Amino acid sequence: MDEGKSLNFIEQIIEDDLESGKHSSIVTRFPPEPNGYLHLGHAKSICLNFGIAKKYGGHCNLRFDDTNPEKEDVEYVDSILEDVKWLGFEWEGAPRYASDYFEQLFELAVNLIKKGKAYVDEQSAEQISATRGTPTRPGEESPFRNRPADESLSQFLAMREGKFKTGERVLRAKIDMASPNMHMRDPILYRIKHAEHHRTGNEWCIYPNYDFAHGQSDSIEHVTHSLCTLEFEVHRPLYNWIIETLGIYPSRQIEFARLNLTYTIMSKRKLLELVQGGHVIGWDDPRMPTLSGIRRRGYTPEAVRNFADKIGIAKRDNLIDVALLEHSIREDLNKKSPRRFGILDPIKVIITNYSKDDTEMMSAVNNPEDETAGMREMPFSNEIYIEQSDFMEDPPKKFFRLGPGTEVRLKYAYIIKCEDYKKNPETGKVEEIYCSYDPQTRSGSDTSGKKVKGTLGWVSAQHAVDAEIRLYDRLFLTEDLNDIEDDFRNHLNPDSLKVLNNAKLEPSLSIAKPGDQFQFERQGYFIADNDSTSNQLVFNRTVTLRDSWGKIQQKG
Ligand code: ATP
Ligand code: MG
Repeated sequence: MDEGKSLNFIEQIIEDDLESGKHSSIVTRFPPEPNGYLHLGHAKSICLNFGIAKKYGGHCNLRFDDTNPEKEDVEYVDSILEDVKWLGFEWEGAPRYASDYFEQLFELAVNLIKKGKAYVDEQSAEQISATRGTPTRPGEESPFRNRPADESLSQFLAMREGKFKTGERVLRAKIDMASPNMHMRDPILYRIKHAEHHRTGNEWCIYPNYDFAHGQSDSIEHVTHSLCTLEFEVHRPLYNWIIETLGIYPSRQIEFARLNLTYTIMSKRKLLELVQGGHVIGWDDPRMPTLSGIRRRGYTPEAVRNFADKIGIAKRDNLIDVALLEHSIREDLNKKSPRRFGILDPIKVIITNYSKDDTEMMSAVNNPEDETAGMREMPFSNEIYIEQSDFMEDPPKKFFRLGPGTEVRLKYAYIIKCEDYKKNPETGKVEEIYCSYDPQTRSGSDTSGKKVKGTLGWVSAQHAVDAEIRLYDRLFLTEDLNDIEDDFRNHLNPDSLKVLNNAKLEPSLSIAKPGDQFQFERQGYFIADNDSTSNQLVFNRTVTLRDSWGKIQQKG
């Protein structure tokens, strides 16, 4: 259907199913557990599930897999709804919840018991796990395995009625204690938890486990293709066994490779540890791989969707270079972002032959990639700021920026020449630079015929807007975090955040609102942060301009 693009293996299965008439329409679902914020791995799954439904004219349900009352919370539900919408997808009807099906799931469990395919076990959790065996040694059958169905049934009802304490009874499927697949050794389907659920309150004290809730919810919703990550491959025989044993709608589970990114942790549990341990400021810290984090960092939904598209869908786990993600956001922001001047680490330049009382307005191009973006005016005056790193007292040969006696162009303004500079006698640091300008060299009407190699960004000192700039680097120093043996927190980058307090921005930025995005010329892409106040703007650097991925591609 996509011209020039071959189908991934899941699309191939779906097209075959549509062609053979097995299905006339496609239903998928995205089933997050509301126990944390969504991350880039979930974005891959969202793009796949919603993308397939859209491509084949079917629909995709958003279903919360909310069967773990202790770990789940409405805060997470709300953030998940927001993140899916932000990515640009619409779920079918209202959001669904596995907890909406608790009554139906209970009935299905009763059916299994009646068919002699499930039993209530009175062994403790320790006993059950001690008798599961190992992959090479069969497990032992529970002494309660062959109790009459009636007895299991009344026990199960008593479980529901709260007659037992947490852990005193479980419902187990009766499958095969000698199966080479550990998940088939009489897996637990229901456990007792006297815990308040964020939606059902205290209505239930028994909760279905993942395998029972997930597969049967798929079936209840007539999900045609249940797409999940590879770790669930070993659960598939159980998924199919329950469906076949109950004779209910046969959803088909298909596994694909999860997204792993270099220098990135992609596990809600570990991300929660970062939040709770104060290693980041919250789930939406711009260094986090959560969707709320990257959104605050300045990633756009388009960039994330394009990234998901580029990495594709594979059957084997792999590790994606985070440079590809950065490439995707640069590609998008390059097209969209207005250009502005921002001096992050300023040094003052005094233009000695320019009148103190003069101000000229200079025209600057808003976006060379977008003609419709037009021009803006920037004031120029006798005192300006340039970037510290654009001046060197004793520059090497190829340094085309400012040094004693050299000339550079101030972009959209004049050519200036460095005549002198002042050092702090104590620190030896250059504090001020004195330059002359050549009035003949005004951009757009240069009559001097002069050629200079360097062009610098600048802002007028008296007109500049102060800002705090937050520069982010990768949160971890280790490339493959799946391949470490010690605690992942040992791999944190101590320099992942650098705050610059003294940035000087061009005056048009004074009206920037949180969420506004710009390219600061030669510096990178920046987004105004929510922490901005009426006194102080705060900008996050989304990404630098250097595209290591583009370079890799060129070389390759
Ligand atoms: P985590 O391991 O981070 O806790 P999870 O798999 O437990 O994630 P769920 O809320 O159960 O999180 O996942 C919802 C859906 O997102 C599942 O279908 C899951 O397979 C998918 N998913 C989770 N992580 C990734 C990933 N890294 N790449 C692709 N899909 C993922
Ligand atoms: Mg999970």
